[in-house]
Amino acid sequence: VITLGAIADDFTGATDLATALRQRGFRVVVVVEDTAVEAESVADVDAVVVALKTRTAPRDEATAATVAAARKLAALGTKQYYVKYCSTFDSTPDGNIGTALDAVLGELGERRAIVVPAFPDNGRTVYRGHLFVGDQLLAESPMRDHPLTPMTQSRVADILAPQTSRSVAEVTAPTVWAGTAQLADALEAHPDGYIVVDTTTNDDLERIAAATASWRVVSGGAGLALGMTGPAIAGTDDFKAPIGRRLVVCGSASAATRGQVAAAIASGLPAFKLDVTAMGANPASVIDSALAFIAASDEADVPVVYSVGSLDDVTRSTRDGRPVAGIVEQVIAAITRGAVEHLGVRQIIAAGGETSGSVVKALGAGRLRIGPQISPGVCWSLATASAGIPVALALKSGNFGAEHLFTTAWEALA
Ligand code: ADP
Repeated sequence: VITLGAIADDFTGATDLATALRQRGFRVVVVVEDTAVEAESVADVDAVVVALKTRTAPRDEATAATVAAARKLAALGTKQYYVKYCSTFDSTPDGNIGTALDAVLGELGERRAIVVPAFPDNGRTVYRGHLFVGDQLLAESPMRDHPLTPMTQSRVADILAPQTSRSVAEVTAPTVWAGTAQLADALEAHPDGYIVVDTTTNDDLERIAAATASWRVVSGGAGLALGMTGPAIAGTDDFKAPIGRRLVVCGSASAATRGQVAAAIASGLPAFKLDVTAMGANPASVIDSALAFIAASDEADVPVVYSVGSLDDVTRSTRDGRPVAGIVEQVIAAITRGAVEHLGVRQIIAAGGETSGSVVKALGAGRLRIGPQISPGVCWSLATASAGIPVALALKSGNFGAEHLFTTAWEALA
């Protein structure tokens, strides 16, 4: 029986949530999209997070994927369902958060769910129904200009209402502050539809989670998990990283990753910059030279393979005119796989959201047992590659992590 089954609308969101749950005493596994989960493979787990790729998907596609995930969780005997979206409630003009929620309620025959996008530790709060990013209303924050999901309204109910056929109500801060019992009473006044609940602090999250502990369906950003309490005592589960060589692969051009690459080079880690323009015609030779570089580096060292040193390295196409982004992902994924299968690499940091996704796919590592946190939003996980080889993976969204992550992250495995 799974205490908590979550459905996350993107990959890094899934690991974010999983890390928060582990911190709160859940033993957690992240399952990537189409990966099957047998009951015995999650026998020693309290929470399963299914990672979808639906944040910007059309509604029918998002609905189908969400229902499939809910069925997968139901087959495991899930008690409570957690629909996870971004704490800035990212949605396209044809937003699918509401339709995904409708689909889960419909599938489970349930009538209501709370809506808690807040994540106070990251500056995302909801007050009087309005979502704030730091001190700014959502629609006045940089999210206003997001290329894929521009957020032009701040009242969560106003964003959600056009996405659902169900009603949307609000419960505001004074009720939340009055205590768990009062909050639970106020929520009982809304037996149908969605209830946006104000949240300004982690204490609020605890009250909200307590007041809805017996609800079948809750929804929110990863923050809501910080109000929950899992059955295990945090940090006591048996996370044991496999021993072997270490490797860092980076396909991210984000400022934080570029800083981490520079810091790694400055501190003497052996580094190999991929020749991106040469990849189109002959990706195999780029893969082979990267593997040769890893093989030649000291076994105790941490080789870094990267595709962007400075922004000048970012190009649209290869020398023979092919679009670069997908090819770089494939090449980095193939290098990682080769390093695991042939060079004894067992501990890997992958930088870049899309890059991490490609690496996980190439390794055939669809189930990630979540381990210790490295820094906010970045954690170690254990997976089994398709060759049956155990690996420790840290998947890092481009802009996450401190400057010296590539030299310090390994300490969390000790
Ligand atoms: P982030 O999390 O920083 O956004 P992603 O991995 O999600 O990183 O996205 C970076 C994208 O840029 C990937 O598709 C990657 O293959 C691509 N890429 C990597 N290096 C280069 C490069 N030198 N030129 C162009 N695109 C690149």
